[in-house]
Amino acid sequence: MNIANNSAKTQSIFDFSNQFSQLPERFYSRHPPISVSQPKLVALNESLASELGMDVGCLDRQEFTDIFSGNQVAASSKPLSMVYSGHQFGNWVPRLGDGRAHLLGEIEDPSGQLLDVQLKGSGPTLFSRGADGRAGIGPVLREFLVSEGMYALGIPTTRALSAILTGDTIYRESTLPGAVLTRIARSHIRVGTFQYFFSRQDIEGLEILLNFTINRLYPSQFDGPSPALDLLDATVEGQAELIAKWMGVGFIHGVMNTDNMSLACETIDFGPCAFMDEFRSSKVFSSIDWAGRYAYNRQPAMARWNLVQLANALLPLINANQEKAIKAATEVINSFDERFQHHWHQILLRKFGFFAQREGDSELFVQFFRIMELAQTDFTVVFRLLSDCINGDHHLIDHFFSQFGHNNEIKSWLLLWQARLGEESRDLSECAALMRTANPVVIPRNHQIEKVIQLALNEDYDHFFRMLAAIQHPFADTHSEFQVPPQPDERVRQTFCGT
Ligand code: AMP
Ligand code: MG
Repeated sequence: MNIANNSAKTQSIFDFSNQFSQLPERFYSRHPPISVSQPKLVALNESLASELGMDVGCLDRQEFTDIFSGNQVAASSKPLSMVYSGHQFGNWVPRLGDGRAHLLGEIEDPSGQLLDVQLKGSGPTLFSRGADGRAGIGPVLREFLVSEGMYALGIPTTRALSAILTGDTIYRESTLPGAVLTRIARSHIRVGTFQYFFSRQDIEGLEILLNFTINRLYPSQFDGPSPALDLLDATVEGQAELIAKWMGVGFIHGVMNTDNMSLACETIDFGPCAFMDEFRSSKVFSSIDWAGRYAYNRQPAMARWNLVQLANALLPLINANQEKAIKAATEVINSFDERFQHHWHQILLRKFGFFAQREGDSELFVQFFRIMELAQTDFTVVFRLLSDCINGDHHLIDHFFSQFGHNNEIKSWLLLWQARLGEESRDLSECAALMRTANPVVIPRNHQIEKVIQLALNEDYDHFFRMLAAIQHPFADTHSEFQVPPQPDERVRQTFCGT
């Protein structure tokens, strides 16, 4: 074996550039991760590793484990924790920051795109506010599964490269095995990062942040007179599309605070998030969201609320004349609802098998959601079964009706839907194929994640790996235990932040 050659091949993953670290010192706290006692690699995301240009076959797993547990700092890495503020459940917190995360630096993927590599659960930082800076294996595996599930569903998201047990115990409601997650993101800049500098009236800092964000996320794409307004516009568009995509698969983020909203418009921070099983429009899972602020159907309004905070922080950069700045920003913010509706409608057209939009579609969709809610059907199952109804097979249609307790409303609705399908200029088989690309079979269901976590507490990761394999192919027509909704005694009614 040619060792020199092998290390050259795997080097890229340890070869960090330090772009964020070149910003002024008030943007972060420079501090290495805190060592752990006995790091053990539980999961390495091999497909992501390959996408990042790593040769997994040649990987030195010991070196990988040392670096991504925080026990060793790669020669090229300058670890830091980023500062930011945020509104948490509407309440202003002047300084949050990475309380348990370290940005190791950026890496370049084979297409030349820069990506942040961050450890989560890697020990206390300047921003820990008395907490331990650690994460448990449960929340780490939850983030691993849900973020990879989102990716496979075609939804922008941060990704999970690895999960490593630390060998240390952490103390929550009970004692838990500690773990470190490695997260890959297009950027970790949040709405709260802009809020931090604005709240301190550090306009120079805001300007530096604006330029950095644009160079990173939208290089040479903005040519208008106000790059700040262009960034706001692009973020409004990206978030409107992201939230519509979440809702199309029944996803509830659960903690859409401004510090958890990414300027890269990726899903970030998988705390008490969950996919719904039975459909309820005002569904909430998070144990701390007692007022339902981040309920399923409130997500567009909450995204808009967060974007108003971003607009506010950008005002001094949009126009020196405050009145003009407010007018321009308001116009962009006011476009959110229409943009969201546009994306939502596009997603629904595909979910219902329509290639082109027609008058009356919205009413047909709304009616279906109302019937689903009354019958408390499983969101994922019924949409997938609907595509089976296209070919008119009585057994399949009967199976679909059974999800609704064979009520008359769904029978009338199906006739309307079939009539509407008849107006499509495409073959019905094409409509069915379209539906199968929009309506997944497998989503990362809560009760299965809970099972993964329980087993992981005894170092049994078999279920985790089987679930990971299943959610990586969400649209495939397979029969797997992971597509089955929970039995009544398996239902998860609440999720916890688990920090
Ligand atoms: P989150 O609710 O996960 O978005 O976190 C909100 C804030 O709390 C962020 O500043 C986190 O870094 C911080 N935080 C969460 N858990 C911990 C922990 N175990 N130790 C230190 N800081 C934490
Ligand atoms: Mg967060």
